[in-house]
Amino acid sequence: MPDDQPLPAPLLDRLAALLGPRGLLTDPADLEPHLADWRALYRGRTPCVVRPGSVAELAEAVRLCAAAGTPLVPQGGNTSMVGGATPDEGGRQVVVSLARLNRIRDIDPLDMTMTAEAGLVLKAAQDAAAGAGCLFPLSLGAEGTATVGGVLSTNAGGNTTVRYGNARDLMLGLEVVLPDGQVWNGLRRLRKDNTGYALRHLFVGAEGTLGFITAAVLRLFPRARESEVGFCAVRDEEAALALFRRFRDRDEGAVRAFEYMSGEGVGFYAKHIEGGNVPLPGHAHYVLVDLASSRPPEGGNTGLRALLEAVLEEAMEAGEVLDAAIGESEAQRAALWRIREEHPEAQKREGASVKNDVSVPVSKTPELIRRSSEACARLIPGIRPVPFGHLGDGNIHMNLEQPVGMDGAAFLARSHDIMETVNEVVRDLGGSFSAEHGIGRLKTDMMADWRGGAELDLMQRIKAAVDPQGLMNPGKVLP
Ligand code: FAD
Repeated sequence: MPDDQPLPAPLLDRLAALLGPRGLLTDPADLEPHLADWRALYRGRTPCVVRPGSVAELAEAVRLCAAAGTPLVPQGGNTSMVGGATPDEGGRQVVVSLARLNRIRDIDPLDMTMTAEAGLVLKAAQDAAAGAGCLFPLSLGAEGTATVGGVLSTNAGGNTTVRYGNARDLMLGLEVVLPDGQVWNGLRRLRKDNTGYALRHLFVGAEGTLGFITAAVLRLFPRARESEVGFCAVRDEEAALALFRRFRDRDEGAVRAFEYMSGEGVGFYAKHIEGGNVPLPGHAHYVLVDLASSRPPEGGNTGLRALLEAVLEEAMEAGEVLDAAIGESEAQRAALWRIREEHPEAQKREGASVKNDVSVPVSKTPELIRRSSEACARLIPGIRPVPFGHLGDGNIHMNLEQPVGMDGAAFLARSHDIMETVNEVVRDLGGSFSAEHGIGRLKTDMMADWRGGAELDLMQRIKAAVDPQGLMNPGKVLP
């Protein structure tokens, strides 16, 4: 098929008749925002963007495309860190944006569930839960743009995994448009349901390779009535882990997030982010601890504030914590969180970086940070390790920034070597090369090495059974 006519004309006509001008974009200016990923690693082409306004419209569009053998790329907020939601350069892959399927169908504060459509932005889901007096706890830097369908399709983790689990743990049921256009309604809101294979879990983390998630039943929790945030300079990586253990041993249920940051990363925040004030500058290692409770505050020096102060005092006496700042108001707590949340943006502004979203057993996080930093420094002298992230669940973003003065493109040309260097350490520590961002397009070539043999074979057989034509998000996840 020639590039200037990548879609059969009858298919385009049928899609136009089905979807109308709001539901089918063909103007190059309208296609533009859908072609590149957040990290600008990939830029593809698409003949059109399908934006269905209902599940029935999506199902019919999928049937039409399946009949024509046209490949489809699901897209939510397009914040994928691994190029999962962008089309390839061939010009035949049709982007399907779920943006218009963004209704909240139901919130039930007694069942503690929310039934939300895939295109609903994560922040809107959080706000709606709060409006009903509940909490939807999934929280991540891209929450103002990422969607319910996207976070489920990548099985996103984020800041609160240590307490609430990842996206998979927050989902009770799904509605899916399958690759042949059938609609599977699995929107059950049951806490217990042992009826054969748990099909809903197939689509979580599948990154759009098995079908379109169109709606989900999400678990809600009691809202926090009290919270505390501490920002601590710690002696080293081991001290960060020791501090986590102190909190966990005192009151595991109180820890909502426990995030590690390097001095380098905090320095980038101060340098690049407007208003980027850091309360305790000049240290090499930092931790942000967020405590929350759904019990009403008890008043006086009890509750979470007492816990926070007691643990910090113990850790200071032990030489683990060097200095600490406590958020005294909602605004101060948000400002402390901002230091962590703006890490990806600050790093982007500093220059070229190679990102490694890896996980190891929690006990191995200090070794991961130290050994991979040292190994990368041997590979490229002057390289700047910027590890940060979810120490409390073992997921560190083991990112590496280009050496000062090195050409960004030359640095990125070494990406593969850098990732391999980090992954060697990760493998040795019994970890995973993808903790929460997924495989997308970026990491497909690692799958055979890490998940080869029976595991990959089984994945390929599931893919062939559910999507025999291979039309769902081709080139992603599976090699
Ligand atoms: P997209 O990027 O549009 O898509 C992601 C994948 O899911 C693609 O493969 C796409 O094809 C597929 N997909 C999307 N919607 C559907 C659907 N309805 N049905 C089927 N497939 C679909 N992730 C974390 O886990 N933790 C973090 O802390 C975190 N922080 C981040 C911070 C920043 C600044 C950014 C930019 C990203 C961050 N991420 C994080 C990445 C995270 O994976 C995405 O933000 C989010 O999970 C993807 O949501 P999205 O709607 O943007 O999906």
